[in-house]
Amino acid sequence: MQYYSTNKKAPMADLKKAVVKGLAEDRGLYMPEEIRQMPARFFNEIDKMSFQELSYEVAKAFFGGDVKDEALREIVYDTLSFDCPVVEVEPRIHSLELFHGPTLAFKDVGARFMARLLQYFIREEEGERVNVLVATSGDTGSAVANGFLGVEGIHVYVLYPKGKVSKIQESQFTTLGRNITAIEVDGVFDDCQTLVKNAFMDADLNRHMRLTSANSINVARFLPQAFYYFNAYARMKEQGLLTYDNDGVSNLVVCVPSGNFGNITAGLFGHRMGLPVKRFIAANNANDIFYQYLQSGEYHPQPSKQTLANAMDVGDPSNFARILDLYGHSHARITSLISGATYDDEAIKETLRECLARTGYQLDPHGACGYRALKEQLAADEVGVFCETAHPAKFKEKVDEITHSDVAIPERLAAFMRGTKQSVALSKDFADFKEYLMGE
Ligand SMILES: *Cc1c(COP(=O)(O)O)cnc(C)c1O
Repeated sequence: MQYYSTNKKAPMADLKKAVVKGLAEDRGLYMPEEIRQMPARFFNEIDKMSFQELSYEVAKAFFGGDVKDEALREIVYDTLSFDCPVVEVEPRIHSLELFHGPTLAFKDVGARFMARLLQYFIREEEGERVNVLVATSGDTGSAVANGFLGVEGIHVYVLYPKGKVSKIQESQFTTLGRNITAIEVDGVFDDCQTLVKNAFMDADLNRHMRLTSANSINVARFLPQAFYYFNAYARMKEQGLLTYDNDGVSNLVVCVPSGNFGNITAGLFGHRMGLPVKRFIAANNANDIFYQYLQSGEYHPQPSKQTLANAMDVGDPSNFARILDLYGHSHARITSLISGATYDDEAIKETLRECLARTGYQLDPHGACGYRALKEQLAADEVGVFCETAHPAKFKEKVDEITHSDVAIPERLAAFMRGTKQSVALSKDFADFKEYLMGE
């Protein structure tokens, strides 16, 4: 499969190049040249397949020509070592729980897949070690570090701003050791990102070591997120929850709390592959750029605003370019399939409390946006599922205070918090970062 750039000015890339480079030369996002329809037989049998089995079939449609079947099967099965179950919150409203992975958020799926695919490509050529540089304001660093932990031939450097990351988040990437190095930068997140960008452009460094990024726009992190939408459909079909119209489209509505729009775009790819979902809802926090686009047809990026659902604090969502490309830049096509919603912090708090009191289900601040949008927009003949993108314990302090509860900390999170912090302290000067890497 070849991949083109959404900016249409860079040459096509094969999968390996798209994964290693991440972003195209013209700064566009890679898109697969073809999105294959899954056969009718697949959808007929999907409710009898396990999460791993059906994900392998979906993975073959994306990556089948570029990765040998047996290796791809192993990558998928190894990535999905945890479940993404569908849980009923109340009649007709279901939670697709994406927080059962190592760092308790959905980014584990993409990060684990990418680590294993990158390893497959470098194993083939038996070259020198590959070094992944990633800047994080919290969640990305933990998903990438844990996704790559123990993957041979790859070393990860996580750059994070000193004192700007919560203790829980910090413990998830500073206590790992092995092939993961945490670098604590005396600066803010933007300084970390600038250091990483400068490193990729520095000729000496690139001669000294092989560098790559594990950005969330990478096709190997982004496309595997389609797997769990197929699983949500399969599990709901299995439970006899769905009805169908004359065209074979189900009454299932999928609602995704969105920031950079990678997660929902993977669901839209699933829809293009034939997944019989009726429509999608993109739930925003106060960063409502996409919501405004749906209303007006105009896209105006804004500086991001800080909210309770901070992993969705994005003022210029990267994957918007992929959505435009997928629907030929047609506002009408986009609004016929996707509706929007936006909630400020007050609404998020109210939703956390209301849902817990009435149903007993403890949401996290991101999932709260998804739950509320679904509840407000679901028609009487529809059934809905929203993505619960993180475990509430990741935001324990805030969630406990808002809902007057004491969220239990899962053992795998407690284990991180007991670990010993190991990190390299650096200034925000590129010269210091370069000197450090030249010594590695
Ligand atoms: C990253 C993240 C989101 C936003 O996902 P996008 O793919 O950027 O839209 C939502 N919730 C949580 C918990 C996240 O970590």
